[in-house]
Amino acid sequence: MNYKKTKEFAQILDNDDPLASYQSQFHFPYQRDGNKHIYLCGNSLGLQSKKTSDFVNQELEDWKTLGVEGHFHARNPWLPYHEFLSESYSKIIGAKATEVIAMNTLSVNLHLMLVSFYRPSKKRFKIIIEDDAFPSDIYAVESHISHHGLDPDKVLIKLKPRKGEAALRTGDITKYIKENSSEIALIMLGGVNYYTGQVFDMQKITKVAKENKIIVGFDLAHAAGNIKLALHEWGVDFAVWCSYKYLNSGPGSVGGVFIHEKHHEKSIPRFAGWWGHDKDSRFKMPDKFIPINTAEGWQLSNPPILSLAAVRASLSLFDEVGMENLIDKSKKLTSYLVFLMENLSSNRISIITPEERGCQISIRVLNGNKQLFDEITTRGVIADWREPDVIRVAPVPLYNSYMDVFNFYKILEDIL
Ligand SMILES: *Cc1c(COP(=O)(O)O)cnc(C)c1O
Repeated sequence: MNYKKTKEFAQILDNDDPLASYQSQFHFPYQRDGNKHIYLCGNSLGLQSKKTSDFVNQELEDWKTLGVEGHFHARNPWLPYHEFLSESYSKIIGAKATEVIAMNTLSVNLHLMLVSFYRPSKKRFKIIIEDDAFPSDIYAVESHISHHGLDPDKVLIKLKPRKGEAALRTGDITKYIKENSSEIALIMLGGVNYYTGQVFDMQKITKVAKENKIIVGFDLAHAAGNIKLALHEWGVDFAVWCSYKYLNSGPGSVGGVFIHEKHHEKSIPRFAGWWGHDKDSRFKMPDKFIPINTAEGWQLSNPPILSLAAVRASLSLFDEVGMENLIDKSKKLTSYLVFLMENLSSNRISIITPEERGCQISIRVLNGNKQLFDEITTRGVIADWREPDVIRVAPVPLYNSYMDVFNFYKILEDIL
């Protein structure tokens, strides 16, 4: 598509946008002067949809009027409430409904998955991660290595991009895997790197890993609700994600897990809790744990319904729009942003996000000078700054317009 750097053109794109009406279904933060912020921070915390309060209020109301009976008689009974999310999640993640479960939060889920899927042996004990992985992921993985009595400095392999490059090359990742396969127990990468916005070729990496009998897990914090995923088909072993970024489910809301059905057999080791126990006998309170034969078998506790209600409100919008339509718009919207950025002739900034990307763009600022970020913030843009030198901006197809992107560009142009 031939983009133009005029306000009129942004308006034309908005007029042609089949998803434009969804903007009015979200609450936007306002500036003191009464104008909307230009919100480009869905990569960190997605906006609240106007459906959220209805969904949460329904559960508050049922709790008020039914008390404990709500487990069975609420409009949406709490006992099976988590099951109401699986179908929607399966479409976002590219999985069977039995392979996904909404539970806990991301770092907790990563720990639970490492319990089941990091089983180091004398020969195979190494874990591959990207060098600039999110700190929580590194802490989690290193703590499991130590827990097994091993030395993280020797066991955790952090893959670095080539000198002078910001993104890892798929070929370099797969080459490393092939050359070191006999020692690798687990590959644990972000689906989309939180810092650079790079989308990893999960399909190719999984294929090479599986050919070499290596377990593969992905952290989809920045991928879920952002890019096309087909975890079941690719044969990924497990994945974890949070629901408050592109999934707009509110701060700290319940996250999710994917466990491929090939692992659903009951013997797989795990940390257990009563909500993972066979549903027919759960309330007979037996001593012996019999896991449910799906991803639900990894649940520990009965879940926070108020939080799940917010997730459910959000997923109902994803159901309505569909990932394909969302991604269609996302590609156009972010390409438009990149086009405009490339028209800024300033050596103060450069885009480090490669072509393989979701909606986020990471802008490297010369000398890590945060002043540029402070200036765009003063002018009403909500984006985020990541040390040492990056501004992340993410136009979100569900609630951002082409005009948002254009206005952001005008602000940058003016400052630069
Ligand atoms: C946001 C994010 C997290 C956050 O973890 P929580 O347990 O939800 O606090 C973890 N990993 C990555 C890659 C993230 O982007």
